[in-house]
Amino acid sequence: MSTPNFSNYINGEWIEGAKTFENRNPATGELVALHAKGTADDINQAADAAGCALAGWAGMPAPARAAILFKTADLLEKQFDHLGEEMTREEGKTLPEAKGEVRRSINIFRYFAGEGARLNGIQTPSERDRVHTFAIRKPIGVVGMITPWNFPSAIPAWKMAPALICGNTIVVKPASAAPLSSWRIVEALHNAGVPKGVVNFVQGSGGELGAALVKAPPLKAISFTGSCEIGHWLHAEASKRRLRIQLEMGGKNPTIVLADADFKSAVENVVNAAFFSTGQKCTATSRAIVEESIYDKYVAAVVERTKALKVGDGMQAGIEIGPAVDQPAMETILRYIDIGKKEGGTLLCGGSRLTGNCHDKGFFVSPTVFSDVTETMTIAKEEIFGPVLAIMKAKDFEDAMRIANNIPFGLSSSIQTTNLSRTFEYIYRSEAGLLTVNLPSAGVEYQLPFGGTKDSSFGPKEQGPAALDFYSDYKTVYLKY
Ligand code: NAP
Repeated sequence: MSTPNFSNYINGEWIEGAKTFENRNPATGELVALHAKGTADDINQAADAAGCALAGWAGMPAPARAAILFKTADLLEKQFDHLGEEMTREEGKTLPEAKGEVRRSINIFRYFAGEGARLNGIQTPSERDRVHTFAIRKPIGVVGMITPWNFPSAIPAWKMAPALICGNTIVVKPASAAPLSSWRIVEALHNAGVPKGVVNFVQGSGGELGAALVKAPPLKAISFTGSCEIGHWLHAEASKRRLRIQLEMGGKNPTIVLADADFKSAVENVVNAAFFSTGQKCTATSRAIVEESIYDKYVAAVVERTKALKVGDGMQAGIEIGPAVDQPAMETILRYIDIGKKEGGTLLCGGSRLTGNCHDKGFFVSPTVFSDVTETMTIAKEEIFGPVLAIMKAKDFEDAMRIANNIPFGLSSSIQTTNLSRTFEYIYRSEAGLLTVNLPSAGVEYQLPFGGTKDSSFGPKEQGPAALDFYSDYKTVYLKY
């Protein structure tokens, strides 16, 4: 059977590339698909098409735009199982995780389609006699989107759906490591009848396409999710043109474990948040900050649970942890493990590439736990984005809060405790943007604002009602009658 070839989508047409690039399964090495390799010219054509389509799409009643988004969700639902399998094959996460993500994308489309019937502005009484005052929401224009590989369907969905319901037109550049899951969303939008030029999708090198996108004249805004390095560069470029920008980037997320926590669930929650999806979640726990009095017992329990995790091809039943997304990602993880050992962390389990049996063809790293990690060590400061947990000791709650906040990142954070007063202390004093209590630090829902603080994020939050504030603007009216 020949390898399927996935084109770019510009101005309502599927456009083949002069060149293609490979999409390979990180668990098996299998060639999943070929994708058109777009160029800076493709980005410019896509942005021009989005500019031409803007007036028609923005002028359509929002409930009519919503009908297309509802239909998109229905079309994704029809392929639910297939989309989950494709995601596991291109990204490596386990099949239940992949299906959970496809479900989330479907829900996101339905949620934002629902917003079409309530794109409320503001209406409030005027100070003046016989003056009516109100503000309506307007789209911002052509929006560029650059997305990462770790949530290859949900992240594009949570940018595309709110942008479209607000009446914007879009140019999407997916991650090269896993472009197929978002290609499927574009296919569903096309089949749902989205007018030509409203949605444009260009695959290929981030360096070339990103530089072209941020300079494309029709662009009014850009939404980026990915590494801090690229996000901060993009911010500087976008600011030169005063583009509206939204950045969601890396983290070094803590989970504080207090002595009064429900011990068993505190172990489960940290192991889940550190290792599921191979630790490749921006909200993953990479630092467990544990109160001194339970430290030894807690470390032993985490290590025991971690050693029992089943690592392998996510298509196989019972597998809990898949591979790193590609060889460079695996090498980065292994490099950080080496640094952790050299700087004095105590390696308690994992720490190497898995080989033999089903592991030989994939990029599998054994789930890794370090104890005795201190604040000055690199593995306590830098995002590794892999299955590596650094366990740190805190004297008490105050010390744990200090360690948790003492970092330039502020994405997610968690506490495990049964003490109500400390829970609220934590909620008010944590410097992160997403908090969980007695849950894993990862695992968010689409109907609430999503995003971090400090170096992790910039601009209005994503998802929930907050997304509308990025993708629309107010026009205010004073009317004398
Ligand atoms: P990345 O290397 O920054 O890539 C993200 C996207 O940017 C990809 O589409 C990439 O294209 C593109 N890109 C690469 N170079 C570019 C350039 N010079 N200009 C513009 N775009 C460029 O990040 P990643 O490795 O895909 O994802 C992992 C990172 O994302 C981690 O730091 C993680 O924490 C973060 N993340 C954050 C969130 C959040 O919501 N805060 C969510 C998920 C992930 P190519 O793929 O073609 O290189």
